[in-house]
Amino acid sequence: MKIVNYPHPALRVKAKPVTAIDADVQTAAAKMLELMYRHDGLGLAAPQVALDYQMIVMNFAGDHERPDQECVALNPVIVEKKGSVINDREGCLSFPGLYQNVRRHKTVVAQFYNLKGEFCQMESHDLAARVWQHEVDHLNGTLFIDVMGSLGLSRSQRDLEKFIADFEKAKKKGDLPPGLEPKL
Ligand SMILES: [Zn+2]
Repeated sequence: MKIVNYPHPALRVKAKPVTAIDADVQTAAAKMLELMYRHDGLGLAAPQVALDYQMIVMNFAGDHERPDQECVALNPVIVEKKGSVINDREGCLSFPGLYQNVRRHKTVVAQFYNLKGEFCQMESHDLAARVWQHEVDHLNGTLFIDVMGSLGLSRSQRDLEKFIADFEKAKKKGDLPPGLEPKL
């Protein structure tokens, strides 16, 4: 399992709900957590590892020694959003090195299932709320470049061109499935 970078088409797939919490899902969750910690991330969504189902893993402290801050969410839905804040330097593991300001809700309430299949509801604020919004967006094929606004997007142009060039290079080398054209 590895993290795919923009503009890999897996990032634009609308993920399907998880219908059974089987061994594959359990193993994928454990591997995704490991990858997230290895890359110092706060969250990772299944489409970022080219899996097409609704699972996200998060640690709101970004610290593997804080398991109390860890959360694996299946079929998550944000049911309440409050307030609005501009976040300084939001990043994404599928856009290594790119950071921009992104406007997000200050508070969100999320409903989801955990790996035991229990229904959960969580209210989060500020950084944790940002992680929730960013990761749930991934499940809908929405990326932070879609929500950062035109100023942030124009500031990101050079990085995005570099990501596209790297993707084309990897595709030529056969590192990516053939016939997958990036949606830009
Ligand atoms: Zn991301």
